[in-house]
Formats: sequence, structure tokens, C-alpha cells
Amino acid sequence: MRYTKLRKENFHEFLRVLERYGKVYAPHRISEKFYDFREMRDPNDVVTEYPRTVMPPKKFFFEPLSELFKVGLRDFSYSTPEEDIQPFVIFGVHAYDIKGLMILDSVYMEPGLEEKQYAVRRQKALIVGISDMPDQYNFSNVRNADWVDEGFDLFLHPIEEGWLIRVGSPTGHKIIDDNSQLFHGTTLKDIDDFKEHEKRRQLSFPMCMSLSDVRYVLEVNWNNPIWEEEAKRCLGCGNCTMTCPTCRCYEVWDEPDVELSSASRFRRWDSCQFHDHGLVAGGENFREHKVDRFRHRYNCKNSYVKALHCDFCVGCGRCTAFCPAGISYMGIITHLMEAKVHED
Ligand code: SF4
Ligand code: SF4
Repeated sequence: MRYTKLRKENFHEFLRVLERYGKVYAPHRISEKFYDFREMRDPNDVVTEYPRTVMPPKKFFFEPLSELFKVGLRDFSYSTPEEDIQPFVIFGVHAYDIKGLMILDSVYMEPGLEEKQYAVRRQKALIVGISDMPDQYNFSNVRNADWVDEGFDLFLHPIEEGWLIRVGSPTGHKIIDDNSQLFHGTTLKDIDDFKEHEKRRQLSFPMCMSLSDVRYVLEVNWNNPIWEEEAKRCLGCGNCTMTCPTCRCYEVWDEPDVELSSASRFRRWDSCQFHDHGLVAGGENFREHKVDRFRHRYNCKNSYVKALHCDFCVGCGRCTAFCPAGISYMGIITHLMEAKVHED
């Protein structure tokens, strides 16, 4: 892999250079405690140290609300919005969110079942990763999602003089080559800084354990009373799924215009924590009770689907950090791991 160095004094210029590749979205502080990806207006507003954004970068590819296609009800025309998608840049993506996107790729870009809008957005996006310092909710190390060697164009690691950059794609190479005045060769001191930072980072993760048998732990604890106890505290708000980088459920509906000249099909995020999520024709609800919905999320993340890059959880900690009821995802999993087998 190619390494290069970006000095502190060139950082803002680098962000301006990225604008040539499309609209730049980057982490911004949006309140006292929270951060989110926002369009960059001023490089001074871009944050490089943050625990996690409220919404993961999935919102740029699998949008919270999107029009899938439009049909003319009189002229029988058909159009999709893919042609209007412009190239864009997401700056400052943490490794676990890059893994999250790779997991979504496996769903929305499955060969033969490609979701066109998602695929076009992925092709048009440039991803610039940045190293994170974990806080108390981050267990991406346990999920093998604290480091990536693919899924980005450039990846920045802090060093004393500025940033050590790993180059991860042909576009990344081109950015470096086309703007060589901004970059410098790395020295042994830079590599030592980088190694030192990584060492501190690894020591900052709050957990060190194996989740390799978690799917079996969940299976044998299907009737553990912890599900009822914790589900009682759950508000069913859906924060945990909306903010999760790998949650991907949605609902679709058709809407004609008032003149009945055209109609559009829309898609909107849905949450398995909502009562109506399991409601089907005939009034049957296959997850009628809150405990069913609550337990379902843990199984969906850890056992229902085949593990690819890792299970369908990258350990970002959002579901715990943003749960208004203070429910700890890993608190429940560790409790079950200690219980191991629960007999009825
Ligand atoms: S964020 Fe917390 S309260 Fe809201 S649905 Fe998820 S677990 Fe329940
Ligand atoms: S389940 Fe929770 S910790 Fe895991 S990826 Fe989703 S939000 Fe992050």
C-alpha cells in the first residue's frame, strides 16, 4: 500500500482540493455532544476528532426517503432518478463505518439483485477515512471492524506533523499525483508516530473479548428472562436501528399526483422496533409483542444472516449511545454470555 504525508498547514487546502471531485460531506459538531456528516462550507468547521456521528454514512447511499421511480399515467413514461446523482465525497469516515458500508454492499449490490440507486451512489462516491480514538461505547475491535485495508480511496492517520495517508484506490492515487505539491514522503519518524498512535488507540478500546460463539449464545438463551426485563424499558422509538450502519429495512408505497397524471414509488426507512413493522395483510403481526421485536434485533445483528466481513454489527456503539432508555447492547450480550445456557 502506498503511504504519503499531509502536513498540518496543507490540511485545509486538501479539503478544498476534494471539492473538485464533488460536493464534500464531512463531520461537523451539531450540538454540545453530537456530530454528524454535513455539507462542507468552510474547512474550519470540519471536525477530525469525534467519537461517532449520529447518522452513519449509509444515509448517502440508502437515503432515509427516496423516490425509486416515476410513471406517467397518461403517456406511460417511466423514469428513475439515477441519472441525476452527482459525484460526491465523504470525508472523515471511521473504519467501522467503512465496514458498515461493505456490509450494506453485500445486501444492496448482491450480484444479480443490485439496487440501482445504491450502486450508482457507491460508484460516484469518494471515501476518505480517518482514524478514530474509541470511547466507552466503541467495541469495533471486538467486531474486527476497527481497521480496514479496503473500502476507501484515502485514509488519514494522525501523526505529529499532520497526517499519514494510506492510499486505497486508483482515484486515491490520482488525487495524490495531481496535487503532489500538498504531499510529502514519509520519514521513519512519521512511521513511529503512526505506530505509537495505533498502540494508544488499541489500548483505549473498553472491551477485549471474543464474540465468535455469540449466535449460539443467543440461540440457547431464547427464553432468558433478560429479554422481558429489558424490553419493558424499551420505548420502541427505533433510534437503535435508524442510527445503525448496517440496518437496512424499509417500506415502500405508491403516490399519485393530484391530477392523476403521474405516480411515484417511494421508499422510506422502517424499523423492526416499530409495532407495524411485522403487520401483514389480514391483520396478522408476526412480531406482535415488544419482547419479540426487542430480541429480534439482537438475533438479526448476530445470527440470522451469514457473517461476511463480520456479523451485521460493526461495534460502532450508536445503539447504546443514542438509546433514550439507556439500554446497553453489549451489556445484554455479555450478560447472556455469562449465562451461557438458559433452561426454561
Ligand atoms: S433505542 Fe432503545 S428505547 Fe429505542 S427502540 Fe432501541 S432499544 Fe428501544
Ligand atoms: S448493532 Fe449497535 S453497535 Fe452494532 S453496528 Fe448497529 S448500532 Fe453499531
